[in-house]
Parts: sequence; structure tokens; C-alpha cells
Amino acid sequence: MLFDDDPPPKLIGIARLAASSDVLEAKRQVEYFELETRRFIGRGSGRMRSIYTLNPYRGCEFGCKYCYARYAHEFMELRDPLLFERKIYAKQFRPAAFRAELRRLKFGDTVWIGTATDPYQPAERRFNITRQMLEAFAGERGLDIGITTKSDLVARDAAVMTRIANQNKLRVHLTITTLDERLARLLEPLAPRPALRLAAVAKLTEAGVPVSVLAHPVMPLINDSEASLERVCEAAARNGATSFSAAPLFLQPCAQRVFLPFLEQRFPHLVRRYRERFEKSAYLKGHYPAMIAERVDQIRARHKMMDRPAPEWPVSPVLGDQMVLFALYSAK
Ligand code: SF4
Repeated sequence: MLFDDDPPPKLIGIARLAASSDVLEAKRQVEYFELETRRFIGRGSGRMRSIYTLNPYRGCEFGCKYCYARYAHEFMELRDPLLFERKIYAKQFRPAAFRAELRRLKFGDTVWIGTATDPYQPAERRFNITRQMLEAFAGERGLDIGITTKSDLVARDAAVMTRIANQNKLRVHLTITTLDERLARLLEPLAPRPALRLAAVAKLTEAGVPVSVLAHPVMPLINDSEASLERVCEAAARNGATSFSAAPLFLQPCAQRVFLPFLEQRFPHLVRRYRERFEKSAYLKGHYPAMIAERVDQIRARHKMMDRPAPEWPVSPVLGDQMVLFALYSAK
């Protein structure tokens, strides 16, 4: 336990850099900081070692109630999970250093953009870091690049993505958990409406950029009905997406600290069941994951969405997509 007269914890590494970052702007309850970054491109560990990761920001203003990435702020000694959506760190972009890192990648290497934050969150409108990074990617060849976002702002960069796709493999993964606007507003308070995300799917595919739609996470008795998933898949196909996936909710303790109070407020009848399911494990166990996988397979087949994302991206049959992403945090 920390008492008032205890010495403050010694900050090292990313926590020290975060503590000394300059405030760029304070907006409503959100503060933007500039974060000095030694290395932009991280690397997974264990079986994810072959995957490189890139996160232009730390923290995410969209504030999804189920967000598993809140854990990433704990590396900066920011333990209150709500600070993840209120203190946003924009990485200080150094084009020459970034290009030097890109040159060290090999032909065929895989880079995932947006594994622990949304690269097109509101901060991107101001700081354009994702855009600048993509401009650098346009000078590369032979990379396998995935971008995950919940924002229609991604369509702004359709032209540069087309240039990247001419010389690399590129796929954008738009997350759409539900088409119900009211439910989306509850679950993902500051993310763009599902209709705007679908419009972005259409713009990107018209520009020749391959798009997947992800209905992650699938939350029991909230967005897991066949009808709900089918509506998302049907709309994705109608707007040009060529793949669809959906995997069950994964709730680490840091995510539970936001998600369970949210349930108490908005879905009180579900609290007991969720507490029981997630009390001992961050994963849903039993027949549920297999049932959802079968449901999604059938929906995908009905809408001929048979293009599957790369085996580990973003759905791993063994770990589930969120665990794969979680396994990559240490590389940020
Ligand atoms: S968009 Fe992604 S990173 Fe941002 S709050 Fe939502 S789940 Fe977390």
C-alpha cells in the first residue's frame, strides 16, 4: 500500500518518458501529450515473434467499455483504467528514424498497425502520425500490412493505401460490433457510428483496398445473436468487404474494472452471469466459443465472405484475436 509520505515509485523506461511528456492540449476531459519514442516498430514474443507491431498513439479516446488495451497504460504506471481514454500520448514522429526502422524489415515481414490503440482515433485529425507513417510505408515493397480501426477517418488515407497496396499486401480491418446505433453508442461511446464505418468500408474498397469487417468482441446476450451478427456481415458484404470474423469477449482484470460497472448500470440483469463467467478466467470457457465460431462460419458462408484474414490476424483459432493482440503489448 502506498502512503502519502512513501517515496514515489521509481519510474523507468516508458513510465519515465510518459511522466516527463509535454502536455500538447487539454480537451474536455482528454489531455494530449507528446511521447518521445526510441523505437516505433515493436515485435511480438513467443509464437508471435514473427509479427511486428506499430501503434502511433498510446491510449484511445474512443473509450470502448470492453477495451482490452487499457492494460497498455499500466506500463506507464497509469493504473486507473479510465486514464487510457483520458490521457492520450502521441508519439513524437521522426521520419528519418522511422524510415530507418522500415528499412530493417525484410521482404514478406508482417506489420500490424493498431494492436493497442486505434490509429484513427480523434488525435489523428490533429497530429497525423498514422498518415505520416503510411507515407513512409508507400516507399516499401513486399510487406504484409494490417490496419485495425473503428474510425471512418481511415478512408481519408485511401489514396496512400492504394499506393502501398500496389507494392505490398495491405488489408484494413474495420471493427463493427453491431448495427444498432444506440447499443454502439453505449458500448463505444466516442467511436464513429456504425453507418459511418460502413461508408468507410465502401470508400476503401472502391479505392481497391481490401477490407475485412470484424464484429469483435462478441458479448453474450448483448451482440451475439445470429440476427445481429448476420446484419453486420450482410452490410459488410454489401459495402464491399471480402472477409468477416467475430470472436468472443476477453476480459482481463483491467478491462473488468470498466466493463462490469458498465453492465451494472446498463445491463444489470447480466451482471451475475458475467461475474460468474469471468471470475476465474479472462476467457469464456465451455461450449460458447465453439458455438460462436460455428455461427460465424455459417453466416460467413451464407454471404460468401470466404476470404479469411491471415491465419493469426486477427482471429487465432487457438488464442482468440484479443489474446493475440494482448500477447503483443510488451512489444510496444
Ligand atoms: S477503439 Fe480499440 S483501442 Fe480504442 S478504446 Fe475501443 S477497443 Fe480500445
